Amino acid sequence: MITRSHDVVIVGGGLAGLRAAVGLCEKYDVALFSKVHPIRSHSIAAQGGINAALGNNPDSADDSWEKHAFDTIKGSDYLADQDAVEIMCREAPGIVYEMEHWGCPFSRFSDGSIAQRPFGGAGYPRTCYSADLTGHVLLNTLFEKAVSLGVKIYPEWHVTALAVDENACHGVAAFDLMNGELVSVDAKATLFATGGYGRVYFYSTNALINTGSGIGMAYKAGVPLKDMEFVQFHPTGLIGTNILMTEACRGEGGYLINSQGERFMQKYAPKAMELAPRDIVSRSIQTEINAGRCFEHPLGSYIRLDLMHLGEKKILEKLPGIRDICIDFIGIDPIREPIPIMPCQHYSMGGIDTDVTAATGVQGFFAAGECACVSVHGGNRLGGNSLLETIVFGKIAARSIDKYLSAVSVSPKKDMCVRTVEAVRAKIEHFLAGGKEKTFQLHGELARVMSKHVGIFRTLSGAEAALDEIEALRERYRNAGISSPSMHMNYELMNAIELEYMFDVALSIARGALLREESRGAHSRTDFPKRDDEKWLKHSIARISGDGHPDISLRDVTITRYKPMERTY
Ligand SMILES: Cc1cc2nc3c(=O)[nH]c(=O)nc-3n(C[C@H](O)[C@H](O)[C@H](O)COP(=O)(O)OP(=O)(O)OC[C@H]3O[C@@H](n4cnc5c(N)ncnc54)[C@H](O)[C@@H]3O)c2cc1C
Repeated sequence: MITRSHDVVIVGGGLAGLRAAVGLCEKYDVALFSKVHPIRSHSIAAQGGINAALGNNPDSADDSWEKHAFDTIKGSDYLADQDAVEIMCREAPGIVYEMEHWGCPFSRFSDGSIAQRPFGGAGYPRTCYSADLTGHVLLNTLFEKAVSLGVKIYPEWHVTALAVDENACHGVAAFDLMNGELVSVDAKATLFATGGYGRVYFYSTNALINTGSGIGMAYKAGVPLKDMEFVQFHPTGLIGTNILMTEACRGEGGYLINSQGERFMQKYAPKAMELAPRDIVSRSIQTEINAGRCFEHPLGSYIRLDLMHLGEKKILEKLPGIRDICIDFIGIDPIREPIPIMPCQHYSMGGIDTDVTAATGVQGFFAAGECACVSVHGGNRLGGNSLLETIVFGKIAARSIDKYLSAVSVSPKKDMCVRTVEAVRAKIEHFLAGGKEKTFQLHGELARVMSKHVGIFRTLSGAEAALDEIEALRERYRNAGISSPSMHMNYELMNAIELEYMFDVALSIARGALLREESRGAHSRTDFPKRDDEKWLKHSIARISGDGHPDISLRDVTITRYKPMERTY
């Protein structure tokens, strides 16, 4: 068996993984694994921007990190841990200037300062951006930095399992796609920065690679997951394609219009209008659609996102990518026509349970970025706060891994990693033996079940149906096989391995949605329409039980200075 050893293994080449690698590689032998080339990570797709209270916009001169923290906590429907939010918002300006100094080309105001635009749920225009390509410029800047500092990158290596024994992590099992080989990789510390699980849903703005397999791997290895029922649905996905129409469309002044010609947000959030937080805007759009005040398209019912009044100059300057996408994918030019949109899955508020140092309960195992739940977003994330979280907590993870490795002498159990690889090999042989179920079909069915039953609005019977249907699919999965025996670049094989983890993610979302008998943030139970702080101002913690099902317990939310209040916009 091929084996490799590194001081630190980072899984994920998005913003969180790269930022952590940059912080560690001058002192340690750091290896970064990514199932695609790092530049193809989902971070590249981020359009709208990154939040920091710089106060550059003339309307935000008295902005502060405390106000950013307040908006974030209110946006989270008070489920975010306030100590974690304070860290993120305090660090934000430093992070943005650090990225600027490393060469990130932000858009500018005429005085040369970094430009900032309004975003949903924010009291001030504090979202720093680079036209509608913010993720692109941030990711390229960090990738260049990581390469220049000599991070050892393993592109197109698929991590397939986490090696945990007696509550300590020893490394991972990885599959080298190009050479078709399973490799045992041991490490003194392992960081997961594997991103979100959007593809557990049918309608999602996420890249096809966002399967959540890292979250499932951690869970399978005994690491708890936090707040999995909180799934963000973005208000504006382009009809039929699920491609994101950035919140910056509304930040720059776009309107949402129903079939009666109304700016209907007037009814739901009279002050913030289109710039209310995403959970509220998505629910409002879905309510309009359910009531029939919508337009019809062969691909579904929709609402209009109208940018025409912004004028050609502003659209070309601030939202050029959005215009191109509309023209290329559905033949509509937003300068002259409204954009047909519908809400779709966008972001994972829940994830691997970590503390504010990115540590998990398992020794030597850390997580950061969208796969982790610190939690800074609670029940609903504000736009622009995720790019911020990835870089802040990627940086903190590096510090915390350094502290861990400096304090204890760790010798990972190589035999444990080898055993983990053997278990993956057995799974591969099972798929090669060729059961009749096809994993792409099972995945498609799973995603439809999730979009149907655990979407924007949830009910007891919907969550129960989801659990039953996921279980039935998981049963069929036992009989899954693959059609090509080749070990080289065999994505069907990788998908087959990942699907098992997607079932775990789906079950923990549905189970959390069933248990949480209240409506908070993005979790909206029509049979329990009110927030219930007495019973449910709690994080849900899902642990794998003996029979593989999630056991859920509750944990108090950390409140520092912002008392839970009614949330109006
Ligand atoms: C279309 C879109 C637009 C967005 N716009 C914004 C925005 O404007 N502002 C904002 O704040 N947020 C935005 N977000 C959210 C934000 O972009 C993401 O939350 C963030 O970039 C996630 O970064 P990450 O580093 O955690 O993970 P990702 O960038 O998703 O990277 C995950 C990495 O993990 C690797 N990986 C995963 N599983 C494995 C495995 N099993 N083996 C090996 N490698 C693996 C992948 O190859 C990848 O390199 C947007 C999201 C989307 C989908």
